[in-house]
Amino acid sequence: MKGLSGKTALITGASSGIGQAIAIRLAQEGCNVAINYRKGLEEAQDTEEMAMQQACGQAEECGVRSLLIQGDVSQEEDILKMMSTVVEQFGGLDILVNNAGIQTESPSHEISADAFDKVLSVNLRGAFLCAREAIKQFLADQKPGTIINISSVHEIIPRPSYLSYSISKGGMENLTKTLALEYAAQGIRVNAIAPGATITPINRDWVENPDKQAVVESHIPMGRAGTAEEMAAAVAFLASDDAAYITGQTLFIDGGLTLYADFREAWSA
Ligand code: NAD
Repeated sequence: MKGLSGKTALITGASSGIGQAIAIRLAQEGCNVAINYRKGLEEAQDTEEMAMQQACGQAEECGVRSLLIQGDVSQEEDILKMMSTVVEQFGGLDILVNNAGIQTESPSHEISADAFDKVLSVNLRGAFLCAREAIKQFLADQKPGTIINISSVHEIIPRPSYLSYSISKGGMENLTKTLALEYAAQGIRVNAIAPGATITPINRDWVENPDKQAVVESHIPMGRAGTAEEMAAAVAFLASDDAAYITGQTLFIDGGLTLYADFREAWSA
């Protein structure tokens, strides 16, 4: 894709799932990749190995560089450290992907304040803080950087028993739009993708159970769950110059989930 080669990308929560696929895809497109992980150094190393393999093939070096950065996006000091390390190592930042995310299940009337705060502090506050630091850097360097937030179909579909998750992704829509508007004149683009049901560790409950997976897929008009690679392809597009005139948008990548399968046949006159 246009304009990605030689750029530097920071991907949060990149040791598994969609974040891992994004790091690999951006490296394949010629980006230097900073791979953030909270815990699980080994998985982060796997991401790095696959990313460099995609970028360089058999060659020892090909100009693409990678970096592993431990850090918890719910901790402001970790984010500051992460950003300064990326800038120090790569000389700047061009692309931030706010991917780190968690969810917890509980009836809404039983959620403790701490459990609520925990999800918001990773999914929304963490995304804000990373975006804030990235934008500071873009402005200081007078660079038309770009931010891609990994939202969810639950940005618009209410999700009972996952209240904090739904709220975090609903908030992410406004984070995306407000930052996009505020910094458009500086050439900074802010977009999001909203994955539908995707085969990753966050969904191990149904991914590892064919019966449960069949139930999930019965609600998807295209009849199957998505893959992390399909999400990564859209992120690469939004980060690239092919999307140079796109800002403030959320791209739903959901096999038609948000078209609502129940409406395939008319059930009212
Ligand atoms: P995943 O569990 O594999 O990935 C989440 C990643 O975030 C993990 O690597 C985890 O270590 C990291 N993380 C969690 N807390 C962190 C913290 N405090 N600091 C840094 N990293 C942290 O699941 P995934 O499906 O790849 O999720 C990635 C993103 O995609 C999430 O934001 C999720 O909400 C979103 N999403 C996923 C789906 C899906 O069906 N899989 C659908 C819609 C949206």
